[in-house]
Amino acid sequence: METLEKLKILSAAAKYDVSCSSSGSNRKNTSGGLGNAAYAGICHSFADDGRCISLLKILYTNHCIYDCAYCTNRKSNDIQRTIFTVDEVVDLTINFYRRNYIEGLFLSSGVVKSPDYTMERLARVAKDLRIIHHFNGYIHLKSIPGSSPELIKEAGLYADRLSVNIEIPSEQNLKYLAPEKNYPSILNPMGYIHTQIEENKEERRKYRKTPIFTPAGQSTQLIIGATPDTDNQILHLSSNLYGRNKLKRVYYSAYNPTNEYDKRLPALSSPPLRREHRLYQADWLLRFYEFKVDEIVNDTNPNLDIELDPKLGYALRNPHLFPIDINRADLHLLLRVPGIGPKSARLIMSARRFSKLNSFHLQKMGVVMKRARYFITCHELSSPTIQEITPLRLRTQLMQTERSKQLSNAVQLSLF
Ligand code: SF4
Repeated sequence: METLEKLKILSAAAKYDVSCSSSGSNRKNTSGGLGNAAYAGICHSFADDGRCISLLKILYTNHCIYDCAYCTNRKSNDIQRTIFTVDEVVDLTINFYRRNYIEGLFLSSGVVKSPDYTMERLARVAKDLRIIHHFNGYIHLKSIPGSSPELIKEAGLYADRLSVNIEIPSEQNLKYLAPEKNYPSILNPMGYIHTQIEENKEERRKYRKTPIFTPAGQSTQLIIGATPDTDNQILHLSSNLYGRNKLKRVYYSAYNPTNEYDKRLPALSSPPLRREHRLYQADWLLRFYEFKVDEIVNDTNPNLDIELDPKLGYALRNPHLFPIDINRADLHLLLRVPGIGPKSARLIMSARRFSKLNSFHLQKMGVVMKRARYFITCHELSSPTIQEITPLRLRTQLMQTERSKQLSNAVQLSLF
C-alpha cells in the first residue's frame, strides 16, 4: 500500500484519541470551498507555555490484538487495516515539518503482535527523529499498556509527552468492556513515568547535562458515557491522578456510539458532549480553583448538572456562604464566586491593600459582574444578592440569560 493511502487510513483512525484538541468536527469540504474539518490528520494541541501547536496525528497501525468493545480498531471489526514502517512515519514527519504544515508529531497505535513489539516501534520513531534527523519539534507518544519499563524509559528520553490511556473510569467496567486489559497494566506505567520524571529532575539538579525525561509530562484519556460510571467516580479518579502521578492533563472523550452490535455498550443517539464539557469545567476547578471533588459532586449528587456550570452549581447549593465581602474574604472564598477567576482573585487580594474596592474596580480586574454581583458585596454595590433572590429563582434567572446568549450566538453563526 502507498504511504499516502496508509496516511489516509491511519490519520482517520487516530481521530478518536482526544489527547490533543480539535477532534470532533464533521464539516466536510464543499465544491468550490476551502478546507475540510472532517478529515483527521493535523490537530492542535497546547504547549506548556500556552502556545497552540499543530501536530501530525496518526496511528502507527490500526491492527490490534485486543478487542475493546468501544473501539473501532478492535480485532473483531472488519475494517481496512494497515501499518506504517518506522521510516515512513519519520519521513512523513520530517517532510511535513519542512513544508511548515506541522510543528510536531502525535503518535498512537493499536497493539500489534505484543505491547513490547508496538512500543519498541513507537520509541524508535522518536529516537530516529531526534538522533538521525536532529528533529527538535514536539513529539507526543502513546505508551502502550503492558509494555516493559525499559521501552517506556527509552520513549521518554526522546518524546516530549507520554500518555497511557485509562479509557474506562472504573476497573470493573474496564474488565467488562476490555477483558484483555487491566488497571495495573495502565496504572503501573503511569507510576513508572512519574517516578522517572521525579528522578530525572533530581539528577538534573546534580548533573546539568542529564537528558530531560518527558519534559511535557504525561496525560491520559477517559471515555465518558460508555459505562454507567458517575461524574463523582470520574472526578475522584482524575483528582487522584493529578495528585499521585502529577498528570499534566486528563482528557475526557464523549463516547462516540460505535460498534452498536455490541450489546455491552449503551444505545446512545449522539455523544454526550455537554457532559464532556461540564467535566472539563469541573476539571478546571480542581486544577486552578483549589476545589475538592466533594465540593463539586458527592454521593448525594453524583453527577454534574448538565444545565449549569459546576461553579455556579456549587454557589447555588451553598447560599449560606454568600454574599462575601470582596474587601475582606480570603482567596479560598474569592475563588468560589461565580464570575471571579484565579487571576482576578489574586488582583483583588493585592489591590485591596491600597483602597476599598468597588464594582468599577472589579470590572477593570476582569470580574464578570453579571454573575458575580449576586454573590458579593463591596464598597457601594447595591444590587440584590442570592439571599434576597433565593437560589431557585436565581438559577432560573441565570439560565435564561445563558439560553438567550446561546441563542444569539447561534443566530450570529447562521448569518455567516
Ligand atoms: S487496545 Fe487500543 S486500539 Fe486495540 S482495541 Fe483496545 S482501544 Fe482499540
